[in-house]
Amino acid sequence: MTDLTPTFTAIRQAVSLCETIQRNHLSSSDKGANDPVTIADYGAQAIICRAISQAYPADGVVAEEQGEQFLTLVPEPLREKVCQLLSDTLGVPVTQSDVVRWLDFGRGHETWRRWLIDPIDGTKGFLARRHYAIAAGLVQDGQPIGAVVATPGYGDHGAVFWALDGKTTQQGLNGEAPVQVQVSSRMDSDSLRVVQSVEKAHGGGERMARVLNLLDIDANQVTYLDSMEKYALVAAGEADMYLRLPKGDSVYQHKAWDHAAGAALVLAAGGKVTDMDGSPLDFSAGAILPNKGMVVTNGAVHDRVLAAVQQAIQDV
Ligand code: AMP
Ligand code: MG
Repeated sequence: MTDLTPTFTAIRQAVSLCETIQRNHLSSSDKGANDPVTIADYGAQAIICRAISQAYPADGVVAEEQGEQFLTLVPEPLREKVCQLLSDTLGVPVTQSDVVRWLDFGRGHETWRRWLIDPIDGTKGFLARRHYAIAAGLVQDGQPIGAVVATPGYGDHGAVFWALDGKTTQQGLNGEAPVQVQVSSRMDSDSLRVVQSVEKAHGGGERMARVLNLLDIDANQVTYLDSMEKYALVAAGEADMYLRLPKGDSVYQHKAWDHAAGAALVLAAGGKVTDMDGSPLDFSAGAILPNKGMVVTNGAVHDRVLAAVQQAIQDV
């Protein structure tokens, strides 16, 4: 039986590190075209992977950031800053080689059970001081079966959501009592609440607008939000559908760490997560998801949404 406590503790520490960096040391480098990374991404991943190396040493890890990039993209004074901030957060001395070792822990281990880590999902939102998430998903045999996801921008105080054994739980970052959550049962078009990415470049806006049109859903029923928090809102019954469709014939390959933890939250809360053809997301291939598009719902409306998606693909 898996105990998520070490991951939970690490994610709480990562939130505190990210908030300190966001307040005092915010800057970014570019990993490639329009793909920013900050020292908070490296710091948060180091904390989470360190915890995994200690608590689950036999598990493989697929994580967004890499030790090599930390050494080449981050200037020396900032690397030292990361070590100092990590040392303050963890209460132990931390060197640059510790950071590199933690960042790369479990990489390439093709174990049956794996952690999929996105240290800051929605880095563009983090940089713009909008929403972001810190996520660890647990995949067994390619199935997303567990997760811990912090959403510091949720509600008044931020929240942590976690999933295991077919149950999803939510707790405010202010420490209020945890509550089990589940997806909504809403089905009427008028009452459906939709969540989509803020970033226009991350999806086919016109195609998604066509889906909403086919389902009789108004533009004012859509909330635009960065990061995996969208999955958390569907899991908690605060949103009923989350759509992510490719723009035209886009060849963008979805990254497994962007979806594993979120999918686990929604599935354990009773919802449905498929690609645009209705197939489950396939986490068995490592960093890349072979799926095209994501359709995430409360389950009750899934078939209706998929039919509209199929129609919209022909129309737009
Ligand atoms: P969101 O805030 O929902 O758009 O999610 C942020 C994630 O979108 C990032 O972590 C990226 O990995 C991912 N992303 C970046 N570019 C694209 C793209 N062109 N299409 C789909 N997802 C993308
Ligand atoms: Mg991400």
